[in-house]
Amino acid sequence: MPRPYNFSAGPAMLPEAVLEQAKAEMLDWRGSGMSVMEMSHRGKEFVAIAEQAEADLRELLGVPTNYKALFLQGGASSQFAMVPMNLLRGKAKADYLNTGQWSKKAISEAKKFCQVNVVASSEAVNFTTVPTRDTWKCDPDAAYLHYTPNETINGVEMHEIPEVGVPLAVDVSSTLLSRPLDVSKFGVIYAGAQKNIGPAGLTIVIVREDLMGQTVAGAPTMLDYAAMAKEGSMYNTPPTYAWYIAGLVFQWLKAQGGLTAMAERNQAKAELLYKAIDESGFYKNPVDPAYRSWMNVPFTLPDEAMDKPFLAEAKSAGLLTLAGHRSVGGMRASIYNAIPLEGVKALVDFMADFQKRRG
Ligand SMILES: *Cc1c(COP(=O)(O)O)cnc(C)c1O
Repeated sequence: MPRPYNFSAGPAMLPEAVLEQAKAEMLDWRGSGMSVMEMSHRGKEFVAIAEQAEADLRELLGVPTNYKALFLQGGASSQFAMVPMNLLRGKAKADYLNTGQWSKKAISEAKKFCQVNVVASSEAVNFTTVPTRDTWKCDPDAAYLHYTPNETINGVEMHEIPEVGVPLAVDVSSTLLSRPLDVSKFGVIYAGAQKNIGPAGLTIVIVREDLMGQTVAGAPTMLDYAAMAKEGSMYNTPPTYAWYIAGLVFQWLKAQGGLTAMAERNQAKAELLYKAIDESGFYKNPVDPAYRSWMNVPFTLPDEAMDKPFLAEAKSAGLLTLAGHRSVGGMRASIYNAIPLEGVKALVDFMADFQKRRG
């Protein structure tokens, strides 16, 4: 039996080859006599694992030399506070774009540290689109502008990087490593690992060096980018096992042809699924086609009473975790890097079959 396809939004499916390798190395990492979980983070074995992972991450994304890549804890949600604490740099205001549930959380956390100017919001239309750049009301005194390129819950994605006069801070939790990204356009990039990258517990932060070192007074050391960078993300014990698994995922991504190859694959997967939804006359996706996410595809059935049988039958067919977020309802298929095109084909075939039987 092949493993089922798991469409969870996160923690999400990992490449089978990575899990197999972790299994093979579980009790004895490469003759060290230790599991990676049992190693000192300062020992030569783990330091080698950590350095290789960072080098591979930098290579995959083409991270410029004036950026630090940090391997932290606390999830993307801690970055909602760390971004203002580190990036305000003496200023009192920051710009935020509101495009969904995750934007809102980032905004409410930032309000603890500064005056938040919401440059534009799509809340009035239930976050089914993104306000175009020409409608944004940016504050000339803002220290930075924060936005969420892919709203994981709403399935709304901005496919272009906006031009603004201040550093951009982005929550790319559900898209980082799903395609190439021009790191040089950003001040801070952050992502919880549990979508495209690895296990929960690891947070990737890529930050431009000149923006570090001016943290708000009283900021804990653990929340200071400069302090974490200075110690190579090992000021304290880092999330070693998650870091190791992420490293295996980076190797896997390189073997797949890197991020350009992933982008082609991910775009093809998304197109296949949206086409099936749009042409069905049965399933519906509410998002403006210009802003549909490649990663998270919410859809509804004609009658909520069909949701339970849909989920149960999908599960029997080896298609797991398709329930939508509790705040949105319906279904959501998250089709991150580890879901192959065959997984989306299997989903689309199942959806057509279900429709034939119930439609
Ligand atoms: C999952 C997710 C988060 C929350 O991440 P945690 O690591 O659980 O804090 C934040 N933002 C986006 C866009 C996400 O997809």
